[in-house]
Amino acid sequence: MTALIEKPLAAKFVIGFCHTQKTFNMRPPVLYPLFASLASLPGIGPRYAKLYEKLCGPRVLDLILHAPTAVLERRPVAHLGEIWSGQARPSTLPPETCITLTVTPCEHRAPASKGKPWRIACEDAQGNPLTLIYFHAYSDQLAELLPVGEQRLISGKVEQQGLFLSMVHPDFVLPEARSTEIPRFEPIYPLTAGLSNRMVGKTIRRAVALLPELPEWLDTAFLQQKDWPTWAEALQKLHAPTCAADMLPTAPHRARLAYDELLAHQLALAVVRDRQAAEPGIALRGTGVRDAATRAALPFALTAAQERALAEIRTDMAAPTRMLRLLQGDVGSGKTIVAFLAALTAIEAGHQAAIMAPTEILARQHAVSMAAWATAAGIRLGILTGRDKGKTRAETLANLADGSLDLVIGTHALLQDTVQFHRLGLAVIDEQHRFGVHQRLTLSGKGEAPDLLVMTATPIPRTLLLTAFSDMAVSQLNEKPPGRQPIQTSALPLSRLDELYGHLKRAIAHDSGKAYWVCPLVEESELIDLAAATDRAESLNAVLGGRVGLVHGRMKPDEKDAVIQAFLADDLDVLVATTVIEVGVNVPSATIMVIEHAERFGLAQLHQLRGRVGRGERGGACVLLYDPPLSRVGAGRLKIMRETEDGFRIAEEDLRLRGAGDVLGTKQSGLPSFRLADWEAHHGLLLTATKEAQLILHQRAERRSAALQHLLALFEKAQAADFLKAG
Ligand code: ADP
Ligand code: MG
Repeated sequence: MTALIEKPLAAKFVIGFCHTQKTFNMRPPVLYPLFASLASLPGIGPRYAKLYEKLCGPRVLDLILHAPTAVLERRPVAHLGEIWSGQARPSTLPPETCITLTVTPCEHRAPASKGKPWRIACEDAQGNPLTLIYFHAYSDQLAELLPVGEQRLISGKVEQQGLFLSMVHPDFVLPEARSTEIPRFEPIYPLTAGLSNRMVGKTIRRAVALLPELPEWLDTAFLQQKDWPTWAEALQKLHAPTCAADMLPTAPHRARLAYDELLAHQLALAVVRDRQAAEPGIALRGTGVRDAATRAALPFALTAAQERALAEIRTDMAAPTRMLRLLQGDVGSGKTIVAFLAALTAIEAGHQAAIMAPTEILARQHAVSMAAWATAAGIRLGILTGRDKGKTRAETLANLADGSLDLVIGTHALLQDTVQFHRLGLAVIDEQHRFGVHQRLTLSGKGEAPDLLVMTATPIPRTLLLTAFSDMAVSQLNEKPPGRQPIQTSALPLSRLDELYGHLKRAIAHDSGKAYWVCPLVEESELIDLAAATDRAESLNAVLGGRVGLVHGRMKPDEKDAVIQAFLADDLDVLVATTVIEVGVNVPSATIMVIEHAERFGLAQLHQLRGRVGRGERGGACVLLYDPPLSRVGAGRLKIMRETEDGFRIAEEDLRLRGAGDVLGTKQSGLPSFRLADWEAHHGLLLTATKEAQLILHQRAERRSAALQHLLALFEKAQAADFLKAG
């Protein structure tokens, strides 16, 4: 049963948050050769097809999109003195030299001993000497290649040692009559074992020759203004660079290709969003009664940012379409109460609400903080996690199904088929980057068409928002609750551990400080790391007199809970943890965060962990304990952490240091990986593509829609293509 349900949901994700649509095979026939398997190319047998597939993918198009990363120039010179007259230009490889040499009329000198290379003396037209060097060669081979006394056109990299010039294994050695066989420029490709650059280049040229002329899908005026080539021309140029400038992302042909990719992507997203907006949902309008009762009981007033986000959410909920909104707010910015008040609106409107958290601990913590609010609001709150079994579970399920529970907080357990709601109106997913998009759809698939609110503490740079999340509306909590003190962050090498112990002891004794101590687990050495965490807890216990607890992922949930409860209740001064606390446990009295092996964490994670302290009004301290020497990236991260607490700045830096793919931590995050477009270099084009996609959709760009079919088919956005056709 599960399998039956899961398939369509997975398919649904491809087009985002909307009904599965029947997909036709939309590929225009003119594109068939590009989607053919690599083995369809002449000269590629099954063995090579495998290697190429490993290199770039299984189809001809994959090969065509395999871009070179550098260009090699073979510079012709008349004599050796000319080599150093021009400077090598940056980001091209140092050029090879192509020169006519005469093999010096004397015997080829055999190596003096085995293992030494052959040396063949040559000279240029002016009589300047250069020695060709060959390892592992046979004398008759060389005699044939370089007959004594004759001229040969030779291309390769000239090296200089003092006055002595040499060339090891020239690229080309040909009689002058065959000079045209030496290409002046050669694109350099990323390779895989078993394929040489020359082979890959040759195969790609064959594939490029298959490129059909396609109707232009870009707007004519725009194309002229940019002075871009056609798609096919751009690809030809991609594989025939002749200077360093051709390799830049801003070169017209590269910019065009990037833009096509971005446009296809944004168009597909825009289609999804449009469809979703047209999809019927429930109009949820609250009475405000429970909201008022809850606010009256809160010890604080909402921040302006919280009010704004809540208003945006409620506007969406009141609309007769389905809400898909992302609530983004740094750690500690107060997302929980916003989610709760949104849930109240659904409940006031006669529906139920569900909040899903990524871990047991977090779900329980939410339940604890919300219990008081629920009492004030007069609603019935339930909890459902993997731990709830037997009678309790059956009871909760029954109460959800008959509507006697208004709000349920839970973990993945909420996704099970057995969980049925009476009238689910709002589904909230906390720390959404922890869940696959699939799961987000499963939860929102329960009930008729519940509104969906996803929350994340990962600040997402604007570029990523526009691409990965542009199917969602976004609310931001860009302001922290008042009274928060800054967190003092310092970096310390492990060698100064004793000092840190001293500080910690004083902070606990005199300032009633309370500390987290995080020891990361790395997957491949999990057991060793776990042993290290246990040791750390023991040595801290020895120093601090027994008030140190340890939690790690291998403990039973009950055991974990007991330790965390003890920490919450001030029975422990230090909580040593592997990363379980990362996702949002709220212990307001915690003031110190020590992160051991800080160099192993990503910036976003460090920021999240640091956000666990300084939640009360007492401020906090964060110590990044590292094991020197630091890598460049590692040092960069620690530096940024010390410089700023601004989650957005950290996210931007993270993106810069790591590249987009890693920022959200999971592949499931829906983040596209582009082949030719580049997050940083093509940011401007991304914005243009986003606008253009809207325009195309709303004006339906009648004239271009047939051409756009080709673009969408090339980037396999079949559903979007269907839509354009139908529209
Ligand atoms: P996060 O966004 O990380 O989920 P929480 O919702 O856990 O943050 O809130 C962090 C802490 O701030 C909680 O103790 C919460 O009660 C408190 N809080 C939330 N909003 C406010 C506010 N407007 N003023 C003061 N404290 C607040
Ligand atoms: Mg939270």
